[in-house]
Amino acid sequence: MNDTCLAILAGRGTNEFLDEWSARFARKWMMRIAFSDHLASMRNHAFKWFRDECTEEWLIMVDDDMVPLPETEALLEAKGDIVGARAAARSGHESHQHSLSMGCVKVHRRVVEGLSPPWFQFGYTADGADVASCECLYFWQRAVDAGFTIVKSGVIGHRFPVTVVPGDSGPTFLLDHELRDRRRSTAVSP
Ligand SMILES: [Zn+2]
Repeated sequence: MNDTCLAILAGRGTNEFLDEWSARFARKWMMRIAFSDHLASMRNHAFKWFRDECTEEWLIMVDDDMVPLPETEALLEAKGDIVGARAAARSGHESHQHSLSMGCVKVHRRVVEGLSPPWFQFGYTADGADVASCECLYFWQRAVDAGFTIVKSGVIGHRFPVTVVPGDSGPTFLLDHELRDRRRSTAVSP
């Protein structure tokens, strides 16, 4: 992986594990894209940067709340036009199990140049009031339709808030959606 650009999508600041991991292979960095909070446009910005301002063969695009593990190494070795690491969604379950999470992906230049922008786009309900599909799915579907090889390889950690509650037999770890469920089940009506 000596021909790799790296884009880290910023939000909450990178972590030391990610910094160490990426310093090993990346030749060019684009970090902390702060022009927009909108995830799809941040990803489009990373792709555009890679297409127009880099000459390297590969782009690794990774979100700054991803934590590389020994099991993430497989992504660097894997072959395919697009290679994605398995990552957990905030529910704790695998994100995009039947498509591809954009949390940590390795993308070949032929994909970035072969698909017309925008590469990422959210889908909305007909009334525009809700998000119907995320930007990962949009990209994945277009890549599938264009016939690119999409491979999942390795896993990467995903950091998000966990609430820890002490107990006699050890702590309980609650994800946000579990905390909401717990609050709902114990809510007293006014
Ligand atoms: Zn998604």
